[in-house]
Amino acid sequence: MSSKDWLEKDFYAVLGISKSASADEIKKAYRKLARELHPDHNPGNTQAEDRFKAVSEAYDVLSDDKKRKEYDEMRTLFGSSAFRRGARSGSGSTFDMSDIFGDAAAGQASGDRRFGGAGFSDLFSSIFSGGGRGTTTARRGPARGRDVEAEVLLAFRDAVNGATLPLTLRAPGVCDTCHGTGAKPGSVPRTCPVCQGVGLTTSNQGSFSFSEPCRECQGVGTIVDVKCPECLGTGGVTKTRTLNVRIPAGVADGQKIRLAGRGEPGARGGPAGDLFVLIKVRGDNLYGRYGDDLTLAVPITFPEAVNGVDLTVPTLDGAVTVRVPPGTPSGRTLRVRGKGVPRRDGGHGDLLVTVDVVIPKDLPETARTALEDYAQAAPPAPREHIDRQVRHG
Ligand SMILES: [Zn+2]
Ligand SMILES: [Zn+2]
Repeated sequence: MSSKDWLEKDFYAVLGISKSASADEIKKAYRKLARELHPDHNPGNTQAEDRFKAVSEAYDVLSDDKKRKEYDEMRTLFGSSAFRRGARSGSGSTFDMSDIFGDAAAGQASGDRRFGGAGFSDLFSSIFSGGGRGTTTARRGPARGRDVEAEVLLAFRDAVNGATLPLTLRAPGVCDTCHGTGAKPGSVPRTCPVCQGVGLTTSNQGSFSFSEPCRECQGVGTIVDVKCPECLGTGGVTKTRTLNVRIPAGVADGQKIRLAGRGEPGARGGPAGDLFVLIKVRGDNLYGRYGDDLTLAVPITFPEAVNGVDLTVPTLDGAVTVRVPPGTPSGRTLRVRGKGVPRRDGGHGDLLVTVDVVIPKDLPETARTALEDYAQAAPPAPREHIDRQVRHG
């Protein structure tokens, strides 16, 4: 658990309590959630398990006065929002689909389960032990990989039907040459003399103490004298990897899907982060989309609108006949049930067929003559109320 993790995570929100909650309120909120989310009560529910872990983690910090104080200070000092990534904070539009992703994700989930089992509290106690904090402490223990965000542009029908596509990710990774130390192989980074390897410096002002990242080592805790030639001392390189991502049927433009455990790999035995995929969907030349419904505009002639017509229209699985009743106005929408976009619950949206009376620019002579006859015989347009207004100024 690094200080950056603390900045990213809103432990108060996780427990559903206010920042001023008392120790008693914290305990109550934790007990309630822990009971609800306990793996024994939710067998096989990885979502509950993830939340259970998050709740335990939040409680671990907030229930300890000292840790809570450090946590509050750190978030006040560095401003939590700057470090919060869209994937985490934009949970409103995030769609947790880890349950329906392929085998690799499922394998990862079971890995997480091991992590969330007996070893979990041990892991936390080892991270927090020793009184240290900040990045050096985290460097020694397992660290969860970072979450990664990516974007895919889908063809309209791939979004509707689902698709499996390769997704190439460029993400920061650990330099293989120096294994992330930033030091040239054969040399060893030395502990920062200013912060003694903690990565933070603390100054006391009256009864308050303020911590900030150590300036000498930029918060890393160590100083590299001979830089690794591969990563130039940063310890990180940009790595490219390609994943086959299964996009479930029915995703919509702007939706975000989460692939648990497909983010950055963890360090030193820690679990991988998550991959958040932002979905962009191209337009279709035939259909539009409105939620789970597909929309389709069909031109009809004036006589068809007047007399009614049976239209044969395409759907995603074959053509269907739509009866347009006599006297249908232009712009009316007819609903074909169950011929829309697949939903997560196994159902489908509808196909909405909107009829559009076309006005021809040019008519063949016989049609023009017939239209003139029609104009003579037909009742006038019902616009007395308009004409009345014109007469009365
Ligand atoms: Zn390196
Ligand atoms: Zn330092």
